[in-house]
Formats: sequence, structure tokens, C-alpha cells
Amino acid sequence: SNALTIRGLTKTYRGGVQALKGVDLDVREGDFFALLGPNGAGKSTTIGIICSLINKTAGSVEVFGHDIDRDLEAAKSCIGLVPQEFNFNQFEPVGEIVINQAGYYGIDRKLARERAETYLRQLELWDKRHVMARELSGGMKRRLMIARALVHEPRLLILDEPTAGVDIEIRRSMWKFLSKINAQGTTIILTTHYLEEAEQLCRHIAIINHGEAVEHTEMKSLLMKL
Ligand code: ADP
Ligand code: ADP
Repeated sequence: SNALTIRGLTKTYRGGVQALKGVDLDVREGDFFALLGPNGAGKSTTIGIICSLINKTAGSVEVFGHDIDRDLEAAKSCIGLVPQEFNFNQFEPVGEIVINQAGYYGIDRKLARERAETYLRQLELWDKRHVMARELSGGMKRRLMIARALVHEPRLLILDEPTAGVDIEIRRSMWKFLSKINAQGTTIILTTHYLEEAEQLCRHIAIINHGEAVEHTEMKSLLMKL
């Protein structure tokens, strides 16, 4: 079955910028999928619409069969989002940030604590659970956002430029972690402008440019053409 089905997705921002001009995308359940493209291509807009942070102009989006126009809450509960900007409260302790996120999904506090421990340990942040988020390095903040996105155990994890500005060692350990949770069954979609990142991690890829998805292919067949 499909984790994500996008048809004819169009977005015109106020002011007239046509960020998306009829994008079609299919992501299968269990896939590790990259949306690859240069800055300004429309990647963040696509993700914003999937997560209903941005209104679309036209087209349809289904997340595990849940249409975001008709069945928004069901669609949202399937998704964990790691946005590009650090959007947590910098003055909250790391552990609280993850536990409180679970609260938004109605997960009780005991289970939330267990989940927070599981994911903070896996992301090597457990030692920092009492530390205020602002004290973390950039790479640690990224990992905190991944732990927070996983606490409701979403079927689909979406990451917008997850390793932008992260040094190579931390990037590699994040790749390893993402590969592991994908192997455990979580569908992953990430945006990147690094071909290398898509190449290392992803099974399928769409190239987006000027608001159009121009390729939609298996990673290995793309590499043969280059
Ligand atoms: P990417 O994530 O691939 O860098 P974006 O989706 O952020 O691309 O942007 C696609 C296009 O839409 C760009 O031309 C960008 O300048 C424009 N854009 C993005 N957000 C807005 C906005 N809030 N208002 C107007 N134009 C925007
Ligand atoms: P460190 O202490 O590990 O050097 P920094 O906080 O200086 O971490 O940032 C590391 C990287 O994270 C930077 O290269 C920067 O591009 C990125 N970064 C910093 N702040 C933000 C932010 N608010 N949103 C997204 N990326 C950020």
C-alpha cells in the first residue's frame, strides 16, 4: 500500500510565486524516499502541505489512505515531522520537550516517559535529559527533534534537510539511525540537496526543480544514468 499519494499538487503563494506546479508523488509503505532538489525547488512547500502547515492551492494528498482534506487528524497521527528550523522551546529541558510532545497525541505520562527514554537513548541524548535545549550543540538539537518526532511512533517520518549544517561524523551516525528505524518498518521521506545523502540512504527518489517533479525513479537506476 501507499504511505503517500500526491496528485496534481499546486501551490501559488500570495504575491504570485508558483512554488508547486502539479506535482505527483507515490511513496510505498516501508520505503526510504528522497525528495532531491536545489534551494527554492519546492521541497519545503511540499512537506509543509503534507503536514498541513501550509494550505495547498490545488491537488490532493493522502497519507496511508487518509485524505488530508477529509481526514486530517488521522493523516496527522501517522506523521512525525522533523522540520528544518529548531522550533522547540529553547528554555525547556530536553526530556520535557519529548515527553510533552507525547501529550499532544494523548499518550499518558508514564508511557511518554518510557518512549522518551527509549528514543533519547537511541539518539545518544539520554545524558542530556535535564539540560536546557539551548545548551545543546546544533547536531544534538537535530537529534532532539528526531526523538520528539518519534515519540508517538508514527508510521511515516518526514525530515526536511535533516543534516544541513551538521558535521560529517554526526551526519553519518544520523544516517545509521534512520536506516535502522526504516529497517524496523518506519517509512521515511527526507528532503535534501545532497545527492550523496540520497545515494547513501534512499531506495527511491524524486527530483524536484522549479516546482515540478522531473524524475521519479529507483536510486540505482538514477546512478547508472549519471
Ligand atoms: P526548497 O525547500 O526546495 O528550498 P521552498 O519550498 O522553500 O523550496 O520554496 C519554493 C519557492 O517558493 C521558492 O521560490 C521560495 O522563494 C518560495 N516561497 C517559499 N515560502 C514562501 C512564502 N511563505 N511566501 C512566498 N514565497 C515562498
Ligand atoms: P555547534 O555548537 O555544534 O557548532 P551550532 O548551534 O553552532 O552547533 O549550529 C550547528 C549548525 O546547525 C550550524 O551550522 C547551523 O547551520 C545549524 N543551525 C544553527 N541554528 C539553527 C536553526 N535555528 N535552524 C536550523 N539550523 C540551525
